Amino acid sequence: MRTLLWLKRLMPEVRWTMWQNRFCSDSSIQRLESNSSIRKHLISKITATGPISVAEYMREALTNPVAGYYVKNDMLGAGGDFITSPEISQIFGELLGVWCVSEWMAAGKSNMFQLVELGPGRGSLASDILRVFSQLKTVLGETDISVHLVEVSPKLSQFQAECLTGDNTQPSDGDQPVYRSGTTRTGLPIYWYRRIEDIPRGFSVFLAHEFFDAIPIHKFQRTEKGWREVMVDIDPESPDKLRFVVSHSPTLASSILIQKDENRQHVEVCPEGGVIVQKLANRIAEDGGAALIVDYGHDGTKTDTFRGFKGHQLHNVLDAPGMADLTADVDFSYLRKMTGTEVTCLGPITQRSFLKNMGIDSRLQVLLRNCPDPSTRAQLVHSYDMLINPDKMGHRFQFFSVLNRGRLAQYRGMQKNTAPLPVAGFAELDIQ
Ligand code: SAH
Repeated sequence: MRTLLWLKRLMPEVRWTMWQNRFCSDSSIQRLESNSSIRKHLISKITATGPISVAEYMREALTNPVAGYYVKNDMLGAGGDFITSPEISQIFGELLGVWCVSEWMAAGKSNMFQLVELGPGRGSLASDILRVFSQLKTVLGETDISVHLVEVSPKLSQFQAECLTGDNTQPSDGDQPVYRSGTTRTGLPIYWYRRIEDIPRGFSVFLAHEFFDAIPIHKFQRTEKGWREVMVDIDPESPDKLRFVVSHSPTLASSILIQKDENRQHVEVCPEGGVIVQKLANRIAEDGGAALIVDYGHDGTKTDTFRGFKGHQLHNVLDAPGMADLTADVDFSYLRKMTGTEVTCLGPITQRSFLKNMGIDSRLQVLLRNCPDPSTRAQLVHSYDMLINPDKMGHRFQFFSVLNRGRLAQYRGMQKNTAPLPVAGFAELDIQ
């Protein structure tokens, strides 16, 4: 497979990023110890205007501009609330870097190439991808490459700037669409935005790793009277606590967001996620490019997945809003529906299958061969197992891709023996 050839080319040159670097918790990280401001704000709001939707609750808890969880905290890593694949091993980002270049090549090697990441966390994924781009300089040639990050958290954008540029960035004045810009350690222009629509148009590869699970969901319950929205209200037994209630009458959301053929008893819908994927699909259809969405999720089968995490433990979602991560499994069937007919969707397939198809086993062998230190070797094997073991992240995480229709139309139309290879990572094509 062509992917494997690239990996071989990369192999001698890419250095092993020390495991320890990824896990050290920064002493400058200020964890909010006693923040009850969001709870108080929500209680006054509910007292004034009545119960709020789960989506509104989630939005306030996660992205309230003053005290939201993502706005205030660094939640990633051993000292945080959860750990993600790019933080576990450099191999993950390297394979995604190869995927990005593979899609750029398959789409005809456009002379401009925007790498766009939604919700880049600490910047580890983009950093590993940019290292691959540097190693593949001869393949990328004179292509005009730029990096575009969509990040709501000023705090995390600082971590990203440090990781990707060594703090070689300038903040913009006021409310500019680009709120920070600079030059990456590898010499590429890099920009930060709050909204996808502010990214310039042009051929782009979009990446979203554990991004869609943080986008607010609405919850609905089937009742004898029909579908009703689950809301957040004040607990009458304890006025400083919140509880879930089922709305007595239909809400706007329950009237428009439930599919006619829905047969589950309880449903979560993420309309904001639907709008985001629609924007990506429109751009991919008009400007070319691809999107790779990686998250834990399902294909329209699960029901109650709304969860809280704090300190790597499950946490009651209604306790201490703003202090814990709130997340819901991504419904890939909904995202697929929202992309429309102008693009092609692949997946979801498991992380294990995707990474195996991308050559993770060969990559591990090369890193092991180049690494004499037994404890680092053991860490490498351990992180590989975390990524692909079906009982760990291997089956829980799913890869889903949105591609320009031309990408596979070309493949379908050609003679079998001259057809280009299928999309890297997706061995079994599940074409919409
Ligand atoms: N992709 C990273 C981080 C995942 S955490 C990783 O896998 O390690 C979710 C990321 O999305 C954080 O960077 C968070 O600040 C960002 N985020 C959450 N909601 C957002 C929103 N509405 N708009 C932009 N970024 C958002």
